Amino acid sequence: MKNYLTASISASAIRHNIAALRQRIGPDVRLCPVVKDDCYGHGMDVLYPVLSGLVDGFAVASPHEALALRRRGYKGFILCLLSAYFDELEVQDDLVRQSITQTVMSSTALASIRAAAERVGEMAQVHLKVDTGMGRLGVPVSQAGDLIGSIHELADVELMGIYTHFASADEADKTTALQQLHQFKSIIPPTKNLMLHAANSAAAIDLPETHFNMVRLGIALYGYRPSDALLHTMELKPCMEVGAKLIAVKHIRKGGRSGYGLTHEYTRDSRVGIVPIGYGDGYFRCLSDRAVVRIKGMNAPVCGQVSMDQMTVDITDIPAVKVGDEVEVISSDPQAPNSVENLARLAGTIPYEITCHLGHNIRHVLVD
Ligand SMILES: *Cc1c(COP(=O)(O)O)cnc(C)c1O
Repeated sequence: MKNYLTASISASAIRHNIAALRQRIGPDVRLCPVVKDDCYGHGMDVLYPVLSGLVDGFAVASPHEALALRRRGYKGFILCLLSAYFDELEVQDDLVRQSITQTVMSSTALASIRAAAERVGEMAQVHLKVDTGMGRLGVPVSQAGDLIGSIHELADVELMGIYTHFASADEADKTTALQQLHQFKSIIPPTKNLMLHAANSAAAIDLPETHFNMVRLGIALYGYRPSDALLHTMELKPCMEVGAKLIAVKHIRKGGRSGYGLTHEYTRDSRVGIVPIGYGDGYFRCLSDRAVVRIKGMNAPVCGQVSMDQMTVDITDIPAVKVGDEVEVISSDPQAPNSVENLARLAGTIPYEITCHLGHNIRHVLVD
């Protein structure tokens, strides 16, 4: 952890986003935040106290993330989106013991969950995941009915819910998302009290007919739009700002160069600052010579190649900059050139990848 790099995570932004999303889904739909990869890089340590009182459960990727939530003392609903695999199967005993809801996607997975339930001597709670067209995990629609039947035959496995996942709900054209929805509806059994869920952030925002009785929200909760193509606009507040301090300031003459490969040539006498963040900290190297950081509210362009742990920015046009001055590497203003969404555009990727990468070396602190 690098103490000189700080991700300030705003509790009020999270509260705002949850309130706005609750408004969108209405009072009868459960809001389940997706907190995989350490809350998409925003840090479970800081976000858990904010989220735990405001949400109706948590969805995580791995069994280890699920168990870690129980260790924090969370007693509510936890859905594990991936199963236990290979040499981790014994972790399923803990999942059963800790009343963590596991996902069933095949008869093999069902057999292994059942074996865990038998060993532990308690009921295993499961949700069935159906592949309605994403072509990734999930039981194919054609086999879903049989698998539901197999679960009902087992005394120690309880089917609590059924879900699916959209491949392209974030696109303007909702044709395939609606086809997936149609497939999903076709396999829902008449059983009462099942938790049914399909919507990710994009579907929660754009497709109310996908809400059923729970939505699984990731990116929107953290304050970013899932894509530029959504049909509905929502006022989301990015919850993260990343700050650093300048560790050096120097002059480079006209015609001088900087960085690996000396790719950047200065076309005037320039002042540059060194910022101690690089691709090893999750600041993408492909942002070299493209992105800006902000110092004293002004843009400082990234000059030359981003290194593993530092990069050079042009501060010629910013008066009186000195060592120790604050550098806003990532802004929480969605319109700023260094917002997560804008950096994602520059890097040719999605906001998710930007925030996940920033999760590892940077100290997270909760503000307001
Ligand atoms: C990650 C994930 C989500 C959340 O998606 P967002 O686009 O971040 O809202 C929902 N469901 C599943 C199965 C996921 O893996």
